[in-house]
Amino acid sequence: MKNICDRCNAKSAYYRVYSGESLCAKCFSRSLQEKVAKTISKYSMVKHGDRIAVAVSGGKDSLSLLHIMNMLCEKHGSTVCAVTIDEGIDGYRDESLDIVSKFTSHLNVEHKILSCKDLYGVSLEDSLQLRKGRRMSSCSICGTFRRRAIDIATETVGANVVATAHNLDDVLQTFLINILAGDVERIGWTYPESVSYANGLRKIKPFTEIYEHEIAFYALVNEIPFQAEECPHMNEGIRTEIREFLNKLEKEHAGIKYNAYNTMVKVAKRIKDSASKEHSKCVLCGRDSTNEICSVCSMMITLKQ
Ligand SMILES: [Zn+2]
Ligand SMILES: [Zn+2]
Repeated sequence: MKNICDRCNAKSAYYRVYSGESLCAKCFSRSLQEKVAKTISKYSMVKHGDRIAVAVSGGKDSLSLLHIMNMLCEKHGSTVCAVTIDEGIDGYRDESLDIVSKFTSHLNVEHKILSCKDLYGVSLEDSLQLRKGRRMSSCSICGTFRRRAIDIATETVGANVVATAHNLDDVLQTFLINILAGDVERIGWTYPESVSYANGLRKIKPFTEIYEHEIAFYALVNEIPFQAEECPHMNEGIRTEIREFLNKLEKEHAGIKYNAYNTMVKVAKRIKDSASKEHSKCVLCGRDSTNEICSVCSMMITLKQ
């Protein structure tokens, strides 16, 4: 790392190994915001007049996304609000709800909290008890319930777009998990283009081309408060092992995650284009689904057996 910024000659604070750039804190932040803006326009994620609900958990990724989307959308003629799902994870969620409430009022952004218990009658901890030894990971249960809850919260605040903070590391991990699980159809879903659902909702992932550690540095230099404690259930799945494996490779071969990401995009596009599955409605709850019974209803049926 050089001592001075490659863009403005101020004192450098960050060395971007994969590109060889040295950047000061200001130029780093600007470069990250520009990267996000580029991803958004490349995949036509935001349209004029959109109302975007950013799904905010209280972690560094989602709060940084809210920070950047709030900034970009002011210029775009679209508006931003925040939605948070209280999954009901003992001793974990309270701190983050407090952080999100303070940060959204600091940014002057509308914030809506929706609890899984209110919505489904069970919290995540309740549903983990209901598994009774069945092979279901806490993340797959939580993810299924949380995605639906985010959709509903988004409708409640009158937004037509949901933005989630999945970063390059997240989508790459998902890609590898699907490869290892033999789930080819799901690989098609990782294509970063915005997805439109039958109910008119659009889902976007503006951080899909951003490294996780660059988001962490963005949160740090922009003094974004976040919950550092990770979900107590996160080590149940294979994701942690894949994450460590990819980080180890990246350390030895800077840029390898980005290369793998580009491969993923190409593969995902081919699979997506060849899949003909139309979104239709769940026969039980009437919400968007690719199958006769949606993932939330089928999980509820399994858990209550
Ligand atoms: Zn600079
Ligand atoms: Zn359903």
